[in-house]
Amino acid sequence: MIIVLLGPPGAGKGTQASRIMQTHGLVQLSTGDMLRAAVSAGTEVGLKAKEFMAAGKLVTDEIVIGIIADRIEEDDCKSGFLLDGFPRTVAQAETLNKLLNDKNLTVDIVVEMKVDDESLVDRIAGRYTCAQCNKGYHDTYLKPQVADVCDGCGSANFTRRSDDNRETVISRLATYHTQTAPLLPFYKAQGVLRTIDGMADIDDVTVQINDVLSKLSA
Ligand code: AMP
Repeated sequence: MIIVLLGPPGAGKGTQASRIMQTHGLVQLSTGDMLRAAVSAGTEVGLKAKEFMAAGKLVTDEIVIGIIADRIEEDDCKSGFLLDGFPRTVAQAETLNKLLNDKNLTVDIVVEMKVDDESLVDRIAGRYTCAQCNKGYHDTYLKPQVADVCDGCGSANFTRRSDDNRETVISRLATYHTQTAPLLPFYKAQGVLRTIDGMADIDDVTVQINDVLSKLSA
């Protein structure tokens, strides 16, 4: 099964992607995570991507398509994968279709997580992750059960993304509306788009997504 999670920054794609990954045994492919790893490692891709990311702009299609094209060739993608943060432009989506078509595959479902713009700045400005296992938290909406200790791995080491600040979020939202939102009619025309209420609480969003996925495999 090939799933695309679509939604603006802060919609909760990463949180839901890791839940789906665990329950459905699918590998999660996050271009944002891959690009951050490239930036930290100082690779050529990382050096090219760094300024775009810091400004809340999209990295070039060429770079992200290159990353995804290589990644989906790996063994763990053979039984399907979940795309989180890719595609983000119609050109990326068209190339993805071609890459999949060459393998007799297709995007099975695109889940749009619909959220109000007004809530996103708060959601993003308060979020952080475990530096050890990458589990996501939020200052208000999703705290660890024991203060300052990760529920997943017990680490006390947390980190915040440098682009999760108010100014960059506003730019990332504008980028979403101009460059990524055109994917909604694109996938609707393919008959694979499903929209869920991303404003609901985190567990309820998971229920909605599982419901959509179970109808697909029924
Ligand atoms: P994310 O973690 O998905 O919010 O991505 C963080 C940043 O990485 C974005 O603001 C972009 O600068 C870059 N990025 C991630 N995925 C893509 C993509 N598919 N196309 C272009 N840029 C991307």
